[in-house]
Amino acid sequence: MHFNCVGVGCGPSNLSAASLLHRSAVTNIFFDSKPDFSWHEGMMLEDVTLQVSLFKDLVTLANPTNRFSFISYLHEHGRLYQFLNARFESLLRKEFAMYLRWAAKTNENVVFGEAVLDISFVDNRFVVATTQRQVTADHVVIGVGTVPKTPSFASTSRGQFHVSETAANLHTVAGKRVIVVGGGQSGAEAILALLRMSRGEAPASIKWVSRRENFYPIDDSPFTNEFYTPSHSEFFYQQPPDFRRSFLDRNMLSSDGISEQTLRSIYQRIYSLRHIEHSEMNIELLPYREAQNIERATGGWSLWTVRLHDGAPEVYWADVVIWATGFRPADMPFLETLAQRMERSGQEIKVDRYFCAQWDGPANRHVFLLNGARSQRGLADPNLSLNAWRAQTVINRMLNKAESLPIGTHSLIDWHKPGDVHQCYRDLQGAC
Ligand SMILES: Cc1cc2nc3c(=O)[nH]c(=O)nc-3n(C[C@H](O)[C@H](O)[C@H](O)COP(=O)(O)OP(=O)(O)OC[C@H]3O[C@@H](n4cnc5c(N)ncnc54)[C@H](O)[C@@H]3O)c2cc1C
Repeated sequence: MHFNCVGVGCGPSNLSAASLLHRSAVTNIFFDSKPDFSWHEGMMLEDVTLQVSLFKDLVTLANPTNRFSFISYLHEHGRLYQFLNARFESLLRKEFAMYLRWAAKTNENVVFGEAVLDISFVDNRFVVATTQRQVTADHVVIGVGTVPKTPSFASTSRGQFHVSETAANLHTVAGKRVIVVGGGQSGAEAILALLRMSRGEAPASIKWVSRRENFYPIDDSPFTNEFYTPSHSEFFYQQPPDFRRSFLDRNMLSSDGISEQTLRSIYQRIYSLRHIEHSEMNIELLPYREAQNIERATGGWSLWTVRLHDGAPEVYWADVVIWATGFRPADMPFLETLAQRMERSGQEIKVDRYFCAQWDGPANRHVFLLNGARSQRGLADPNLSLNAWRAQTVINRMLNKAESLPIGTHSLIDWHKPGDVHQCYRDLQGAC
């Protein structure tokens, strides 16, 4: 069977494309290897919330009238007024996952339980082989997201696990010594979940180790949020690699810091345990330390760290170690056949302005990469912020439509504009 567009992966990135393409003239199908839809299920802990506005759903920022908007979901489930009256400060992540599931399940072009195994290019068409069939396509959109990342010396068995498995492992910590390694949002959520456990279920001790100098908040202020606009993504894309690299390092906390709400809850919970409940739980906050090794020790693990301010080695003992050490881009074994035909940009496949992989094939046949080009497209690439705009950009490219940024996508800040000094210089030259 032939489609104009075949999608690999049905996480938020590609669900955005599938939603915007639904009932359009572009025939499409999207495959996901998971048996059923889920979104970060292992981190659905109590009260966890979305770190972005609810307008950053699958479609609203590209097409507010699309039937797959979050508001449309609330309307269809008869709870618009109740949602408004509940006045959540931030959207509950559980509810956002329910919304995403609804968008996936009510779109007949989204298929679960079917992994894409290989993509080749034959007779001017992509040939996409899945675990169950073979289809052909004019274009392919890849959105396979990220997978858990742990240090090379870590293991993820027998008392060690990645933070993405926290929900399923909380029952193993009762009375144990627990160390969480990693000072971002995921680590903070794991710490809060441990601190909130009731007597009898709670650990005996909790240590929180982070490489950062302190437990830093996410910068969610208006001007910083301008980094998460289409026009900044465009600006970023046009800059040289060295600038892009250092920009990402300098501004990491605008996406990888901890939400203020989580930080306050952690602080208040520790205060309460120490000074009001007089809990016997031993809590140690250990920033500015780098975990360097882990070894088996009697009855558990010894975690070796180095204090970053003076280089002193330290060792901490634990029964359970939770690695909140981030995520890395997922491997793409299904691209092996085409990979040598594609240009690279460092570790990534090189993309153009429209998120098309640069390759040696025909100029009207594209492989698009969603959430696969952070070093080329900036901080927002792995984030939900630009999902709808990015998916619409990709669709426009398939249709050979509109080149410039659409209305409403511009930043308040002039990232590109030459300053007055240029004008002044030109005026002066004219005067001469
Ligand atoms: C706990 C957590 C909370 C987050 N919260 C926020 C937030 O509040 N705000 C924000 O902006 N960002 C957030 N993010 C970051 C980001 O928005 C999400 O990670 C988002 O899920 C990325 O979407 P994606 O579709 O690119 O990738 P994913 O959600 O990882 O989806 C990729 C999909 O591809 C499928 N797949 C992989 N290989 C194949 C194959 N060969 N064939 C078929 N299917 C395949 C996978 O099964 C998966 O379903 C969060 C991340 C985490 C880990």
